[in-house]
Amino acid sequence: MKLNKDNYFSQEANLQYISVSQFKGFLSSYGGCEAGAMAKINGEWEQAHIDAFDEGHYVHAWNEGTLDEFKENNPQLYASTGKTAGQLKVQFKHCDKMIEVLASDPLVMKALAGEKEVIMSAELFGIEWKVMLDSYQPQTGIFADLKTMKEMDGKFWNNEIGVYENFIDHYGYNLQMAVYAEIERIVHGRDEWLLPHMVIVTKQKPPDHDIIYFDYDAIEQGLHIVGKHIERVKAVKSGAAEPVRCEKCDYCRSTKKIKTIKHFSELKFY
Ligand SMILES: [Zn+2]
Repeated sequence: MKLNKDNYFSQEANLQYISVSQFKGFLSSYGGCEAGAMAKINGEWEQAHIDAFDEGHYVHAWNEGTLDEFKENNPQLYASTGKTAGQLKVQFKHCDKMIEVLASDPLVMKALAGEKEVIMSAELFGIEWKVMLDSYQPQTGIFADLKTMKEMDGKFWNNEIGVYENFIDHYGYNLQMAVYAEIERIVHGRDEWLLPHMVIVTKQKPPDHDIIYFDYDAIEQGLHIVGKHIERVKAVKSGAAEPVRCEKCDYCRSTKKIKTIKHFSELKFY
């Protein structure tokens, strides 16, 4: 299948291609679960719809230049009852504030310039990947990803290795930027990577914002982490290996059947 904006997030595309978020969905270090990831790919499980998702979409639609269309197609953005009926819900009014912060910073507009929502696919580590670059400027040697975050400086506990991490490592944004850079390099047959940038805007009042860039060392490290886990993910996705259940995620909790009872001292705490 040839990827386009209409089918990029479809089940068929998710079966045929792996994306960075699908890949992370298999890895417990990124809050993923093999069984949950497979249920999503097979269409047996849909993640509950959360507003945080819409807020990200709202700001992305602005970057793409399709915000008016997005608002038209998503009536759930508007309050339907009460005094504010017909007006944007309060969190989306705040999205307008976040957009204002971005739009009024010249360096942000420079980082986000170029071609928008560019889809690419290529084989990497023996599997077909799909990526979507929010803003793409090969002539300047950069691409940029736009993220909405709760806050910039929060620390996140990594239960696997027992350390606090920043949000980049915690959400695997370093992997995302590394894979995007490598796929773009492969597709265009260039020797050097474009430099990945992330434009971050926070949901705080007033919003904070920053531009973060990644260097070649970060790209190499990110690809190294993907390489370490990819064979297991390929085996599970292809059906060659049985997915392991984490028994903690939404999917596992909702399909759980107790196999053995626990001694009270076995209860884990996090
Ligand atoms: Zn699970």
